[in-house]
Amino acid sequence: MKIKSKIIKTLLAASCAFALSNQAMAAAPSDIKEIKTIQDNGVLRVGVKNDVVGFSVKDPLTGEYKGFEDTLAQMIAKEIGDDVEVEFTAVTAATRSELIDSGDLDCVLATFTITEERKKNWDFSTPYYTDAVSVLVEQASNIHSLKDLVGKTVGVSSGSTSGRALVTAMIENKVIEGKGFDPAKFDPATWTEGVKFHQFDNYPAISTALAAGEVQAFCVDKSILNIYKTKSRNFIDEKFAPQQYGVVTKKGSGLSPFINELIEKWLADGTIDKLIKENNLQ
Ligand code: GLU
Repeated sequence: MKIKSKIIKTLLAASCAFALSNQAMAAAPSDIKEIKTIQDNGVLRVGVKNDVVGFSVKDPLTGEYKGFEDTLAQMIAKEIGDDVEVEFTAVTAATRSELIDSGDLDCVLATFTITEERKKNWDFSTPYYTDAVSVLVEQASNIHSLKDLVGKTVGVSSGSTSGRALVTAMIENKVIEGKGFDPAKFDPATWTEGVKFHQFDNYPAISTALAAGEVQAFCVDKSILNIYKTKSRNFIDEKFAPQQYGVVTKKGSGLSPFINELIEKWLADGTIDKLIKENNLQ
C-alpha cells in the first residue's frame, strides 16, 4: 500500500515537472530574437520608478527594488528563463521612453500611461493597473477645486500626461472654455488659459517648489501624489482622467506579444489582483 502510494506520488511529481517544463518552453520561444538575447545574457533590463510607494521603491541601503511593478518584472524574467535576472534602472517620465528607443532597456514598468499617441511609438501591454489624476495643494492656499486653480501655476513632470489631463478636466467641468485645445498637440509649456504649467524633471523637485510657493499645485497620478501628501497638504475634491498603466516595449519587438500574453494570463487568474492587494494599492 505504502509502496503503491509512493509510486503514484513519484509519477504525479514527474508529470507535474514535465507539464511545468513544457509550459516554460512554450512560454519563452527562443526563436524570437529579443527573447533569445535575454536568455543568452541572462538579464532582462527593466526601467522602473525608484520612489513610487507600492509600485516601485529602491531601498537606499540595499539597492533592492520592491513593489508591484518590480515583482511583475521579476515574474516576466522568470518566464523568459529560469536563470534570467532583472537589471533595474531608475527612470522618470522624461527618460523612460528614450531608454527604450536607445535599446538600453528591454521594457519599462513605470506607472506608464497608455495613450493613443504613445501607442504610435511604443508597444503597450494590456493595462495592469488603473489610477486617476489628482491635484495636491498646500492647505493654506485655500484651493479646493478645479475652479480655484484658475490663475495658478501647476507643477507637472516633463513627458507626463498630467497637464493635458488637468486641462481636459477643467474644460469638461466648464471651468475654462478651452478654445483651440487639441489633446493630441497639447504642450504644457505654451498653455495659458486658466492655468500655467511649470515642468520639472522629477517629483521631489515639484514637491519642493510647492512648499516654496513657486507653484501653487502639484498635478499627477494619485498613486504618485500620495508620496508627497503631508499633514499640511490636501488633495482638491476632484479626481479625473483614469490612467491605465501598461508594460512598454520597443515598437514591433518580439517581446511585446510575449509580455502581453503574460499580463493577460495574470489578470485572468487573479495574480495581478493579489499583487495589488499585497502592495496595499487600492
Ligand atoms: N502616468 C503618467 C504618465 O505616464 C504620469 C507620469 C508618470 O508616470 O510619472 O504620463
